[in-house]
Amino acid sequence: MPLPLALGLIGTGAVVAHTGPALMPLMPPLAKAFGVPRTLPGEPAPQAVAITFDDGPHPEGTPAVLKILADRGIPATFFLVGERVRANPTLAAEITAAGHRVALHCDQHRNALRLTGHQIRDDIARAQETIHAATGVECDLQRAPLGIYTPAFLRAVKQAGLKPWLWSQWGRDWRTRATPESIIKDASESLVAGDVVLLHDGDDYSSKGSHLNTVKALPGILDAVQTRNLDPVVLP
Ligand SMILES: [Zn+2]
Repeated sequence: MPLPLALGLIGTGAVVAHTGPALMPLMPPLAKAFGVPRTLPGEPAPQAVAITFDDGPHPEGTPAVLKILADRGIPATFFLVGERVRANPTLAAEITAAGHRVALHCDQHRNALRLTGHQIRDDIARAQETIHAATGVECDLQRAPLGIYTPAFLRAVKQAGLKPWLWSQWGRDWRTRATPESIIKDASESLVAGDVVLLHDGDDYSSKGSHLNTVKALPGILDAVQTRNLDPVVLP
């Protein structure tokens, strides 16, 4: 991809948006141009949806989310942060032991627009090592912090053997003013087969205590999934 795509992202105000106290994940308008999938492939499960969690593991949020998912027998995909795995290695192992899919978010939660190619490659490698040490999993999926990919970042992701994956629905649960009701509405109002839903099981990179709202909202989101006869799956 040519450099102007990344510069185009800067032009959207993404950098300004990420200097606030709560780091706001962005849906990059250029995901399609970058060829990064946001939805599930249509086959072989046409009613499939994927529930995904970023930014964990978190000592409160992750166990609460795992309990709700276990009670309903629903699998999810967790995009882990290396530094959070080093702080909570047992929790990371519990995610995989519960049958969920573990994927790579980053090692430190930084905006790729501010990193050199070397820093990006180093970040990915450290996260891979950390997640493997804690869970035994060799990650093959990755999602960019804040949803921001640059051409250099995408190159590094693919060279590391990872497939990038974004999302098509989100609960906007990182926001200070999010409520359980707003999260349910944002995540499920227009939920259809093929969607990938972004939530956060930790508050380390978002509004303080935001995971509490996510945990309260999760049953309502899963109700919407079941009411619409959708079939929760992990990312392929
Ligand atoms: Zn994140």
